[in-house]
Amino acid sequence: MNRVQPDNNPISRRSPATFSVGNAILTITGIAVLAATIFTMWTPANLFSDRMQNMYEIWQIQATVTFPTPTQLPPARIGIVAGHYGNDSGAVCPDGYTEMEANLKIATLVVQKLKAAGYTVDLLEEFDDRLSQYRGMALVSIHNDSCEYVNDEASGFKVASPTDNAFVERSERLEKCLIHRYQTITGLPFHINTITPDMTSYHTFNEIHTETTAAIIETGFLNLDQDIIRNHPDTISDGIVAGIECFIRRESIPNDFQLVTP
Ligand SMILES: [Zn+2]
Repeated sequence: MNRVQPDNNPISRRSPATFSVGNAILTITGIAVLAATIFTMWTPANLFSDRMQNMYEIWQIQATVTFPTPTQLPPARIGIVAGHYGNDSGAVCPDGYTEMEANLKIATLVVQKLKAAGYTVDLLEEFDDRLSQYRGMALVSIHNDSCEYVNDEASGFKVASPTDNAFVERSERLEKCLIHRYQTITGLPFHINTITPDMTSYHTFNEIHTETTAAIIETGFLNLDQDIIRNHPDTISDGIVAGIECFIRRESIPNDFQLVTP
C-alpha cells in the first residue's frame, strides 16, 4: 500500500464518454432481456452449465433486491486492480524487486484464471480511468506489504472492504470469502493487526460505482513471505480466484473456520 497517493496521480482522467456509456447500458439491457427470454424458453439444463445458471440466479437475485429498473443491472464482470501498476513501484526490495512487479504478476494470473473460468474480467491500473463509476459483480485490488524486516511476526495477508459501503452485507461476504479461501490455499496467516485506514478507506472504494462490491488484499509481506509471493504466484492467485468465486457463487464458509494469525 505504501506510497499510494491519489493526489500524486499523474494520469489525467478523461471526461466520461456519454455516448459509449449510453450504448453500453442499452446493450446490457438488451442482453438482460434476451437472457431472460432465452431462460424462459428453454430449461436451464439444456442451455446453461451449472456455473452459468448459478451466475444467472445471483444476477437475478441482485436485480430483484438492489436494482429497481432493468437499466441499472450491473454487467456480469469482475475488475482486478494490480496495485501501483501504471503509477509507482510501491515497496522496493534491496535487490530491486518491487511490490508493483509482484502485484502485476499475481493480478495477471488472477485475470487469466477467471477468464478461463468464463468470466468477463478487466485488469486495471492503480488509477485506471475505468475505475470511475466502475460497475461489476466484484472488484479486488491486489497489493503487498513492505520488503523491510520488521519483526518475526511481519508475515501474512490482510483483507479489507469499504466500511461505509451502501451494501455492507455483500462487502463482508467478499471479505470473508477471500480470507477463508486465501488462508486455506496459501497457508499464510491472517495479519489482522496491521489493517490501516489506508486499506479500509482505499481510494478506489470511493471511485467505483456504489453497487460494485469491492475489497483490497495485501497478499503477504515482501520480506518474510517473499518466497511464496515471488516463486509461487500460482498458489497466491489460486487463493484470490477461489475467494472471488466463493463470493460470486454464494458458496459457504465452514462454521468452524479458525483464523490463523502470525
Ligand atoms: Zn501497495
